[in-house]
Amino acid sequence: LEPAYSFMIRVRVPGGVTTPEQWLAMDEISDTYANGTIKLTTRQAYQFHGVIKSNLKQTIEDINLSLLDTIAACGDVNRNVMCNPNPYQSKHHAAVLELSKQISDHLTPKTPAYHEIWLSDEAGEKFKVTQEPEPIIGDSGDEVEPIYGKTYLPRKFKIVVAVPPSNDVDIYAHDLGFIAIIEDDKLVGYNVTVGGGMGSTHGNTDTFPRLAEVLGFCTPEQAVAVAEAVVSVQRDFGDRKVRAHARLKYTIEDRGLDWFRDQVEQRLGYKLGEEREFAFEDNGDRYGWVEDEDGNWHHTLFVQGGRVLDKGDFRLRTALREIAKVHTGDFRLTANQNLQIARVTPEKKSEIEALLKEYQIDATFERTALRLNSMACVALPTCGLALAEAERYLPDLISQIDDVVEEAGLAEDAITIRMTGCPNGCARPFLAEIGFVGRGPGRYNLYLGGGFSGNRLNKLYRQDIKDSEIVDTLRPIILDYAQNRNEGERFGDFVIRKDYITATVQGSDFHAN
Ligand code: SF4
Repeated sequence: LEPAYSFMIRVRVPGGVTTPEQWLAMDEISDTYANGTIKLTTRQAYQFHGVIKSNLKQTIEDINLSLLDTIAACGDVNRNVMCNPNPYQSKHHAAVLELSKQISDHLTPKTPAYHEIWLSDEAGEKFKVTQEPEPIIGDSGDEVEPIYGKTYLPRKFKIVVAVPPSNDVDIYAHDLGFIAIIEDDKLVGYNVTVGGGMGSTHGNTDTFPRLAEVLGFCTPEQAVAVAEAVVSVQRDFGDRKVRAHARLKYTIEDRGLDWFRDQVEQRLGYKLGEEREFAFEDNGDRYGWVEDEDGNWHHTLFVQGGRVLDKGDFRLRTALREIAKVHTGDFRLTANQNLQIARVTPEKKSEIEALLKEYQIDATFERTALRLNSMACVALPTCGLALAEAERYLPDLISQIDDVVEEAGLAEDAITIRMTGCPNGCARPFLAEIGFVGRGPGRYNLYLGGGFSGNRLNKLYRQDIKDSEIVDTLRPIILDYAQNRNEGERFGDFVIRKDYITATVQGSDFHAN
């Protein structure tokens, strides 16, 4: 007998958009093969946890039957391409979703190996699921991978597209980003950002989170070629010896942005344009109902920790299944682990509204703005890299901090708070105004001072504190903020002005005091 290995499966969802039929398929898979829950990730993907080895192949086949897949959802390749989750809010959002899909398709590995391994039987008989790609044969007669080559990328690669003023995708946390530039109600192109990333290693100051920087400007027609050029420079120059130094952020930190731009422009055969003006307001989600230009409605729901489950009287999974059965629009996963029931027609709105109320999951259900701006990674017991709790602990911690927040009269004031079980930073804790990163069971590093729009890294405020010390540590700072903040001043800006910490300007001074 072999051990009962269990796996996490991540489903790739470019732009986070799925149909109600696909939602129902994910719901059924979670019940049949996983632990009865669906995790909505911080990168607009689905995760299933607890899939045992003997069910892996059938689960992946069922995912493909729903016309979603798991190709390149992990590994040293381009991962799920994210974009603002509401393409129907305006024609510009529709354009960025289309760009996300084009980039995703262009950078998906072309090998038919995935289909050979997961979607065929031992005799090589193909299952009738999705179209298997034709292998690309090079001059030598061998199969080739046109963009990744034989050795793929030095490490994973993450791409996002943002539409200001919303930075909900956290553009500065990603290897490559496109910021939509809209002038006179026309999408004229994108500012291209490069070199962002969250991951670091405790005790190794050569590793650090880093903010992406603007490389230049490209037209909508140039964007896919720009993505390929950026990926290819990292493929050729990224560090392949030291894995902790292998992300694009270190290539740019070591060689400089000008050098990187030269490389990209050489490959493109033309120069990028000058950066255009833009401004982000926040990196959170807008909850509740929004009407779009066409008269359709979208409802963004808070999903704590991104976990869709039934637990006691709280029956979120059942509610969403019932909604999926009657919904004629889409479900959109947000980059903040939340869910948007999108493109609800005026005729369907009251039916969906009634279900949201019946199950008490609608956006008006009472929660503090602190909780509504929280994110937690999976961490224990599911993630093998976790040093401490995150998803299972943060809700309780927020309940305790909420007492202080309410005492201070800040229940309506949004403060971003994020927790991860290790410094890989999957819930982007280094961009939060209050960030926690696990050090060991019940112990965390506490970081303060991230920018509210996701535009500034935070800094270490207390190292290795016990979970029981967190509320007492934060309490005087929150009360000080309530009493002494300037008009409109954000918590992250306040803690810098009041010298609780110094500002982190870029990743290279993340470890400086
Ligand atoms: Fe990511 Fe670390 Fe959290 Fe695991 S514990 S999900 S690797 S941040």
